[in-house]
Amino acid sequence: MPKCQLAPGAPLKLDNAGDKTLHFESRPDVQTCTEWGAPIIWEGMFDPRAYDEVHKGNQTSVALTVFAVGRYLDVYLKDFLTSAEAHFMVGLPVTYYVFTDVPERVPAVTLAPGRELKVISEEHRFRWQDISMMRMKTIRDAIDSHIRHRNRYVFCMDVDQVFVGRFGPEALGDSVALLHSHFYRRFKILWTYDHNPKSRANMLEAPGDFYYHAAVFGGSWQRVREITDSCYRTIMEDKENGVEALWHDESHLNKYLWEHKPSRVLSPEYCWDPSIGYRRDIHVARLIWQEKQYDKLRENS
Ligand code: UDP
Ligand code: MN
Repeated sequence: MPKCQLAPGAPLKLDNAGDKTLHFESRPDVQTCTEWGAPIIWEGMFDPRAYDEVHKGNQTSVALTVFAVGRYLDVYLKDFLTSAEAHFMVGLPVTYYVFTDVPERVPAVTLAPGRELKVISEEHRFRWQDISMMRMKTIRDAIDSHIRHRNRYVFCMDVDQVFVGRFGPEALGDSVALLHSHFYRRFKILWTYDHNPKSRANMLEAPGDFYYHAAVFGGSWQRVREITDSCYRTIMEDKENGVEALWHDESHLNKYLWEHKPSRVLSPEYCWDPSIGYRRDIHVARLIWQEKQYDKLRENS
Protein backbone atom coordinates (compact mmCIF):
# COMPACT_ATOMS: atom_id res chain seq x y z
CA MET A 1 0.00 0.00 0.00
CA PRO A 2 1.27 3.49 -0.79
CA LYS A 3 1.92 5.87 2.05
CA CYS A 4 -0.58 8.64 2.45
CA GLN A 5 -0.11 11.20 -0.31
CA LEU A 6 -2.24 14.17 0.52
CA ALA A 7 -2.99 16.22 -2.55
CA PRO A 8 -1.11 19.51 -2.24
CA GLY A 9 -3.12 21.79 -0.01
CA ALA A 10 -5.88 19.27 0.66
CA PRO A 11 -7.09 19.98 4.17
CA LEU A 12 -7.48 17.08 6.56
CA LYS A 13 -11.12 16.32 7.25
CA LEU A 14 -11.10 15.80 10.98
CA ASP A 15 -14.68 15.26 12.08
CA ASN A 16 -14.34 13.76 15.54
CA ALA A 17 -13.40 15.58 18.73
CA GLY A 18 -10.75 12.95 19.53
CA ASP A 19 -8.93 13.41 16.22
CA LYS A 20 -6.18 15.64 17.59
CA THR A 21 -4.54 12.42 18.79
CA LEU A 22 -4.33 10.89 15.28
CA HIS A 23 -0.78 10.00 14.19
CA PHE A 24 -0.82 9.55 10.43
CA GLU A 25 2.87 8.56 10.39
CA SER A 26 2.58 5.82 12.99
CA ARG A 27 1.57 3.20 10.40
CA PRO A 28 4.03 3.66 7.50
CA ASP A 29 3.01 0.23 6.18
CA VAL A 30 -0.49 1.32 5.18
CA GLN A 31 -2.40 4.25 3.74
CA THR A 32 -3.71 6.33 6.64
CA CYS A 33 -5.33 9.17 4.73
CA THR A 34 -7.38 9.37 1.54
CA GLU A 35 -6.61 11.68 -1.39
CA TRP A 36 -9.51 13.86 -0.26
CA GLY A 37 -8.13 14.21 3.27
CA ALA A 38 -10.23 11.72 5.25
CA PRO A 39 -8.43 9.65 7.89
CA ILE A 40 -8.26 5.87 7.44
CA ILE A 41 -8.34 4.47 10.96
CA TRP A 42 -5.77 1.74 11.71
CA GLU A 43 -4.66 0.28 15.03
CA GLY A 44 -1.78 2.26 16.47
CA MET A 45 -2.65 5.67 14.99
CA PHE A 46 -5.08 6.86 17.68
CA ASP A 47 -5.27 7.12 21.44
CA PRO A 48 -8.36 5.17 22.53
CA ARG A 49 -8.50 6.92 25.89
CA ALA A 50 -8.75 10.34 24.24
CA TYR A 51 -11.79 9.29 22.20
CA ASP A 52 -13.42 7.61 25.19
CA GLU A 53 -12.90 10.68 27.32
CA VAL A 54 -14.52 13.19 24.96
CA HIS A 55 -17.39 10.95 23.97
CA LYS A 56 -18.17 9.79 27.50
CA GLY A 57 -18.03 13.44 28.56
CA ASN A 58 -20.49 14.35 25.81
CA GLN A 59 -22.58 11.20 26.31
CA THR A 60 -22.50 10.73 22.54
CA SER A 61 -25.45 8.53 21.66
CA VAL A 62 -25.10 5.86 18.96
CA ALA A 63 -27.71 3.76 17.16
CA LEU A 64 -26.74 0.32 15.88
CA THR A 65 -29.14 -1.13 13.32
CA VAL A 66 -29.14 -4.84 12.57
CA PHE A 67 -31.46 -7.10 10.58
CA ALA A 68 -32.27 -10.66 11.60
CA VAL A 69 -34.93 -11.89 9.24
CA GLY A 70 -35.90 -15.55 8.86
CA ARG A 71 -33.26 -18.07 9.84
CA TYR A 72 -30.58 -15.46 10.46
CA LEU A 73 -32.11 -14.63 13.82
CA ASP A 74 -31.53 -17.94 15.61
CA VAL A 75 -28.09 -18.43 14.15
CA TYR A 76 -26.45 -15.02 14.57
CA LEU A 77 -28.35 -12.43 16.60
CA LYS A 78 -27.48 -13.48 20.14
CA ASP A 79 -23.72 -13.60 19.53
CA PHE A 80 -23.85 -10.31 17.66
CA LEU A 81 -25.63 -8.48 20.50
CA THR A 82 -23.76 -10.12 23.37
CA SER A 83 -20.40 -9.34 21.79
CA ALA A 84 -21.52 -5.77 20.99
CA GLU A 85 -22.19 -5.25 24.69
CA ALA A 86 -18.59 -6.26 25.39
CA HIS A 87 -16.91 -4.21 22.62
CA PHE A 88 -19.12 -1.71 20.77
CA MET A 89 -18.97 1.87 22.07
CA VAL A 90 -18.49 0.65 25.64
CA GLY A 91 -19.50 3.31 28.17
CA LEU A 92 -21.65 5.26 25.69
CA PRO A 93 -25.43 5.32 25.35
CA VAL A 94 -26.29 2.88 22.58
CA THR A 95 -29.68 1.96 21.11
CA TYR A 96 -29.83 -1.32 19.23
CA TYR A 97 -32.51 -1.42 16.56
CA VAL A 98 -33.26 -5.03 15.69
CA PHE A 99 -35.42 -5.49 12.58
CA THR A 100 -37.03 -8.89 12.36
CA ASP A 101 -40.09 -10.79 11.19
CA VAL A 102 -40.10 -12.86 14.42
CA PRO A 103 -39.95 -10.31 17.29
CA GLU A 104 -40.91 -12.93 19.87
CA ARG A 105 -37.69 -14.83 19.16
CA VAL A 106 -35.32 -11.94 19.86
CA PRO A 107 -33.07 -13.28 22.64
CA ALA A 108 -32.88 -11.62 26.04
CA VAL A 109 -29.49 -9.92 26.34
CA THR A 110 -28.33 -8.14 29.48
CA LEU A 111 -27.54 -4.55 28.60
CA ALA A 112 -25.27 -2.15 30.45
CA PRO A 113 -26.85 0.96 32.01
CA GLY A 114 -27.75 3.59 29.43
CA ARG A 115 -28.11 1.03 26.64
CA GLU A 116 -31.41 -0.13 25.20
CA LEU A 117 -32.78 -2.45 22.54
CA LYS A 118 -35.75 -1.75 20.29
CA VAL A 119 -37.34 -4.41 18.16
CA ILE A 120 -39.04 -3.25 14.98
CA SER A 121 -41.11 -5.55 12.78
CA GLU A 122 -39.72 -6.15 9.33
CA GLU A 123 -41.42 -7.92 6.47
CA HIS A 124 -39.96 -11.29 5.42
CA ARG A 125 -39.28 -10.82 1.73
CA PHE A 126 -38.97 -13.96 -0.34
CA ARG A 127 -35.65 -13.22 -2.03
CA TRP A 128 -32.56 -12.79 0.16
CA GLN A 129 -31.38 -10.14 -2.29
CA ASP A 130 -34.49 -8.10 -1.42
CA ILE A 131 -34.07 -8.63 2.34
CA SER A 132 -30.57 -7.22 1.95
CA MET A 133 -31.40 -4.35 -0.43
CA MET A 134 -34.57 -3.15 1.26
CA ARG A 135 -32.62 -2.50 4.45
CA MET A 136 -31.85 0.88 2.88
CA LYS A 137 -35.52 1.90 2.96
CA THR A 138 -36.15 0.47 6.43
CA ILE A 139 -33.14 2.26 7.93
CA ARG A 140 -34.16 5.55 6.30
CA ASP A 141 -37.66 5.21 7.75
CA ALA A 142 -36.33 4.27 11.21
CA ILE A 143 -34.13 7.37 11.18
CA ASP A 144 -37.23 9.48 10.55
CA SER A 145 -39.43 7.76 13.11
CA HIS A 146 -37.00 6.97 15.94
CA ILE A 147 -33.27 7.48 15.50
CA ARG A 148 -33.20 11.23 14.80
CA HIS A 149 -34.91 11.88 18.13
CA ARG A 150 -32.43 9.98 20.28
CA ASN A 151 -29.12 9.13 18.56
CA ARG A 152 -26.56 11.49 17.07
CA TYR A 153 -24.73 8.74 15.14
CA VAL A 154 -25.87 5.55 13.40
CA PHE A 155 -23.99 2.39 12.46
CA CYS A 156 -25.67 -0.09 10.13
CA MET A 157 -24.34 -3.64 10.28
CA ASP A 158 -24.87 -7.17 9.00
CA VAL A 159 -25.79 -9.67 11.70
CA ASP A 160 -23.45 -12.47 10.53
CA GLN A 161 -20.44 -11.14 12.44
CA VAL A 162 -19.18 -10.96 16.00
CA PHE A 163 -17.20 -8.35 17.95
CA VAL A 164 -13.88 -9.59 19.31
CA GLY A 165 -12.11 -6.32 20.08
CA ARG A 166 -12.71 -2.66 20.74
CA PHE A 167 -15.01 -0.90 18.26
CA GLY A 168 -14.98 2.51 19.91
CA PRO A 169 -15.83 6.15 19.27
CA GLU A 170 -12.72 6.59 17.10
CA ALA A 171 -14.97 5.06 14.43
CA LEU A 172 -17.52 7.88 14.67
CA GLY A 173 -17.64 10.54 12.00
CA ASP A 174 -19.96 12.39 9.68
CA SER A 175 -19.99 9.63 7.07
CA VAL A 176 -18.10 6.42 7.72
CA ALA A 177 -17.26 3.56 5.34
CA LEU A 178 -15.26 0.38 5.78
CA LEU A 179 -12.58 -1.07 3.49
CA HIS A 180 -13.67 -4.58 2.44
CA SER A 181 -11.25 -7.13 3.85
CA HIS A 182 -11.05 -9.02 0.54
CA PHE A 183 -10.42 -5.95 -1.60
CA TYR A 184 -8.38 -3.47 0.41
CA ARG A 185 -5.37 -4.04 -1.79
CA ARG A 186 -6.32 -1.77 -4.63
CA PHE A 187 -5.38 -3.81 -7.66
CA LYS A 188 -8.21 -6.18 -6.89
CA ILE A 189 -11.12 -3.79 -6.95
CA LEU A 190 -11.83 -3.14 -10.61
CA TRP A 191 -13.84 -6.27 -11.32
CA THR A 192 -15.68 -6.01 -8.02
CA TYR A 193 -17.61 -2.91 -9.06
CA ASP A 194 -20.80 -3.22 -11.06
CA HIS A 195 -20.26 -2.72 -14.80
CA ASN A 196 -23.75 -3.24 -16.16
CA PRO A 197 -24.68 -0.13 -18.18
CA LYS A 198 -28.34 -0.67 -17.26
CA SER A 199 -27.70 -0.43 -13.50
CA ARG A 200 -27.59 2.90 -11.65
CA ALA A 201 -24.77 1.36 -9.60
CA ASN A 202 -22.44 0.94 -12.59
CA MET A 203 -18.93 2.31 -12.39
CA LEU A 204 -18.29 2.24 -16.14
CA GLU A 205 -17.26 5.89 -16.29
CA ALA A 206 -15.42 5.88 -12.98
CA PRO A 207 -11.97 4.54 -12.17
CA GLY A 208 -13.00 3.96 -8.54
CA ASP A 209 -10.80 4.28 -5.49
CA PHE A 210 -11.82 1.99 -2.63
CA TYR A 211 -14.21 -0.93 -2.41
CA TYR A 212 -16.34 -0.58 0.69
CA HIS A 213 -18.10 -3.37 2.56
CA ALA A 214 -21.83 -2.85 3.10
CA ALA A 215 -21.68 -4.95 6.30
CA VAL A 216 -20.60 -1.79 8.18
CA PHE A 217 -21.37 1.82 7.34
CA GLY A 218 -22.49 4.79 9.37
CA GLY A 219 -22.25 8.43 10.26
CA SER A 220 -24.39 11.20 11.66
CA TRP A 221 -28.09 10.41 11.37
CA GLN A 222 -28.41 13.18 8.79
CA ARG A 223 -25.77 11.71 6.49
CA VAL A 224 -26.92 8.11 6.96
CA ARG A 225 -30.40 9.27 6.03
CA GLU A 226 -29.00 10.71 2.78
CA ILE A 227 -26.99 7.54 2.04
CA THR A 228 -29.87 5.13 2.65
CA ASP A 229 -32.43 7.30 0.88
CA SER A 230 -30.24 7.63 -2.21
CA CYS A 231 -29.34 3.92 -2.34
CA TYR A 232 -32.98 2.97 -1.92
CA ARG A 233 -33.93 5.22 -4.84
CA THR A 234 -31.28 3.84 -7.20
CA ILE A 235 -32.18 0.26 -6.18
CA MET A 236 -35.83 0.99 -7.04
CA GLU A 237 -34.85 2.54 -10.39
CA ASP A 238 -32.97 -0.66 -11.18
CA LYS A 239 -36.02 -2.71 -10.27
CA GLU A 240 -38.17 -0.63 -12.63
CA ASN A 241 -35.61 -1.31 -15.35
CA GLY A 242 -35.51 -5.04 -14.59
CA VAL A 243 -31.87 -5.07 -13.54
CA GLU A 244 -30.02 -5.94 -10.32
CA ALA A 245 -26.54 -4.69 -9.50
CA LEU A 246 -23.71 -7.21 -9.14
CA TRP A 247 -23.49 -7.05 -5.34
CA HIS A 248 -26.97 -5.68 -4.69
CA ASP A 249 -27.12 -2.91 -2.05
CA GLU A 250 -23.31 -3.00 -1.74
CA SER A 251 -22.87 -1.95 -5.38
CA HIS A 252 -25.26 0.96 -4.86
CA LEU A 253 -23.44 1.97 -1.67
CA ASN A 254 -20.11 1.93 -3.51
CA LYS A 255 -21.47 4.09 -6.32
CA TYR A 256 -22.87 6.56 -3.79
CA LEU A 257 -19.59 6.70 -1.88
CA TRP A 258 -17.65 7.25 -5.10
CA GLU A 259 -19.80 10.32 -5.75
CA HIS A 260 -20.04 11.46 -2.10
CA LYS A 261 -16.73 10.71 -0.41
CA PRO A 262 -16.88 9.46 3.18
CA SER A 263 -15.33 11.74 5.81
CA ARG A 264 -13.82 8.77 7.61
CA VAL A 265 -12.68 5.35 6.46
CA LEU A 266 -12.22 2.29 8.67
CA SER A 267 -9.44 -0.20 7.98
CA PRO A 268 -10.37 -3.87 7.47
CA GLU A 269 -9.38 -4.37 11.12
CA TYR A 270 -12.93 -3.15 11.80
CA CYS A 271 -14.49 -6.10 9.93
CA TRP A 272 -12.01 -8.84 9.22
CA ASP A 273 -12.57 -12.22 7.57
CA PRO A 274 -10.41 -14.66 9.55
CA SER A 275 -10.48 -17.17 6.69
CA ILE A 276 -8.08 -14.85 4.80
CA GLY A 277 -5.39 -15.89 7.27
CA TYR A 278 -2.42 -13.86 8.47
CA ARG A 279 -1.80 -10.41 7.01
CA ARG A 280 1.02 -8.40 8.47
CA ASP A 281 -0.88 -5.09 8.19
CA ILE A 282 -3.84 -6.35 10.25
CA HIS A 283 -2.70 -5.68 13.83
CA VAL A 284 -5.99 -6.37 15.56
CA ALA A 285 -9.42 -7.76 14.74
CA ARG A 286 -12.38 -5.84 16.12
CA LEU A 287 -15.33 -7.43 14.36
CA ILE A 288 -14.98 -10.71 12.46
CA TRP A 289 -17.11 -12.49 9.90
CA GLN A 290 -19.01 -15.50 11.12
CA GLU A 291 -19.06 -18.59 9.02
CA LYS A 292 -21.42 -18.28 6.04
CA GLN A 293 -24.12 -20.93 5.83
CA TYR A 294 -25.92 -19.82 2.69
CA ASP A 295 -27.32 -23.25 1.83
CA LYS A 296 -29.00 -23.52 5.24
CA LEU A 297 -29.97 -19.89 5.81
CA ARG A 298 -31.00 -18.43 2.50
CA GLU A 299 -34.38 -19.74 1.64
CA ASN A 300 -34.17 -19.18 -2.12
CA SER A 301 -30.49 -19.78 -2.83
N1 UDP B 1 -30.45 -10.88 6.16
C1 UDP B 1 -31.41 -11.48 6.98
N2 UDP B 1 -32.09 -12.57 6.52
C2 UDP B 1 -31.86 -13.10 5.29
C3 UDP B 1 -30.88 -12.50 4.45
C4 UDP B 1 -30.18 -11.39 4.94
O1 UDP B 1 -31.63 -11.03 8.10
O2 UDP B 1 -32.51 -14.09 4.93
C5 UDP B 1 -29.74 -9.68 6.67
C6 UDP B 1 -28.69 -10.05 7.72
O3 UDP B 1 -28.53 -8.97 8.61
C7 UDP B 1 -27.46 -10.26 6.88
C8 UDP B 1 -27.62 -9.14 5.86
O4 UDP B 1 -29.02 -9.08 5.60
O5 UDP B 1 -26.27 -10.19 7.64
C9 UDP B 1 -26.85 -9.31 4.54
O6 UDP B 1 -26.97 -10.63 4.06
P1 UDP B 1 -25.71 -11.64 4.11
O7 UDP B 1 -25.00 -11.43 5.40
O8 UDP B 1 -26.20 -13.01 3.81
O9 UDP B 1 -24.85 -11.08 2.91
P2 UDP B 1 -23.28 -11.23 2.68
O10 UDP B 1 -22.58 -10.88 3.96
O11 UDP B 1 -23.01 -12.63 2.30
O12 UDP B 1 -22.98 -10.26 1.60
MN1 MN C 1 -23.08 -10.61 5.90
